[in-house]
Amino acid sequence: MKHRILVLGAGYAGAYAAGTLARRLSPADTEITVVNTEPDFVERLRLHQVAAGQDFATRTLADVFAGTGIRLRLARVTALDPERRVVTVADPDGRAGVDELGYDTLLYALGSHGDDRGVPGAADHAFDVAARPAALRLRERLDGLREGGRVLVVGDGLTGIETATEIAESRPGLSVTLVARGELAARLSAGARGHLRRACARLGITVLEHTGVEAVEAERVLCADATVLPSDATVWAAGFAVHPIAAAAGLAVTESGRIVVDGTMRSLSHPDVYAAGDSVHAIGANGLPLPMSCASAGFTGMQAVKAIVGNLTGSRTGHVRLSYPGNHISLGRQDGILQLVDREARPKPAYLGGRKAARFKAGILRVSLWTTAHPTFCVPRRRRHLTPAPDASAAHAVPYAVLPHEVPYAAPHAAPYAPDAPAGRPVA
Ligand SMILES: Cc1cc2nc3c(=O)[nH]c(=O)nc-3n(C[C@H](O)[C@H](O)[C@H](O)COP(=O)(O)OP(=O)(O)OC[C@H]3O[C@@H](n4cnc5c(N)ncnc54)[C@H](O)[C@@H]3O)c2cc1C
Repeated sequence: MKHRILVLGAGYAGAYAAGTLARRLSPADTEITVVNTEPDFVERLRLHQVAAGQDFATRTLADVFAGTGIRLRLARVTALDPERRVVTVADPDGRAGVDELGYDTLLYALGSHGDDRGVPGAADHAFDVAARPAALRLRERLDGLREGGRVLVVGDGLTGIETATEIAESRPGLSVTLVARGELAARLSAGARGHLRRACARLGITVLEHTGVEAVEAERVLCADATVLPSDATVWAAGFAVHPIAAAAGLAVTESGRIVVDGTMRSLSHPDVYAAGDSVHAIGANGLPLPMSCASAGFTGMQAVKAIVGNLTGSRTGHVRLSYPGNHISLGRQDGILQLVDREARPKPAYLGGRKAARFKAGILRVSLWTTAHPTFCVPRRRRHLTPAPDASAAHAVPYAVLPHEVPYAAPHAAPYAPDAPAGRPVA
């Protein structure tokens, strides 16, 4: 019987990892299945642009995986039973058609979704840009607003900033407000913050700082200081959360539900499970948790692939340097900010702003898409056979401290970014 590898999620981490696995392992003794709700590869990095009304050519996952031998299952993962090695799936809308998929090795890469942080009314009345259906719903709402319609973006993390500036630039007839819980974009350097303020002023965005949102209603937002902000479209951008599936399955997870792994992205509790992307709690080369980002998805996906191939074929497991260079933020199509960070993830004083930064980011977006669709471009195809009886526990739980010398690795998606708000950070 072939060794069954099941990849959950075909975003930046899952699609890249699945494609690479298919090119590294012999189809004679492995069978790779990818489960994803969406039929297309969704460029999540552009969803604020989609919401603002811009259109992009999409690539189907069937096209992305063409010729690789990967089986694509369009379905929604609803549960995982790691003891039976079975994943439960339903039809993509999650309504009917429950089925079970067995695996020998699992790569969990289900990404994340918008986090309402338990704020009353946010889930019911606010829009978000964390997934394509949500971004399209927001777009439809914006299409329906009249001149002067009020758009309130809650959260001054990177997604909130990108969303507010994109909507303000694409739809100058609307009145856009950006709500920050503290000082605007406190994670950026003073120079970059100044650049952002000038961009907001140029785009006519009202910035409300030191404003905590306590409740969202259909046409207004209630703040902690008793201020009431009227809103025709409230966009919730106060952070991302992971799916509760891993925690419910009994995998070792952090408080926020991200899967705890060793230095090779292998689950600390279940050696036949690996995790990558937003779902994984991976420690970077600087000793800090990697932020949710496209770059982290690339690094962790590649590390998981190296570990799976190494463990199944008995070859040496290569190591990927898990680094995080900084934040890259678009401010509409003509402006942007590139903010590098130091080893402690603090912003360096220097930043790049303006058209050059915007062009740089546009290049990153193109490269991210291309590399996901062509995972092993320039990499020789070496399809290895499995060792007769792969020992599931052989290389398990490699602590970071004893990893062999780390090999610097050029990320396939080198888009520096950071999560909108670390888990547990109070809502904006
Ligand atoms: C608007 C926006 C802009 C961003 N901009 C940047 C940026 O400029 N730079 C940057 O580094 N990061 C950016 N990010 C963050 C970045 O998109 C994520 O960190 C990255 O997508 C994580 O990759 P992933 O593979 O873990 O998850 P995803 O790319 O989200 O992929 C997860 C996949 O799993 C599928 N899935 C989810 N749940 C299920 C389920 N139950 N069953 C089956 N399939 C499922 C999804 O359909 C998706 O295909 C941005 C995010 C947003 C929302």
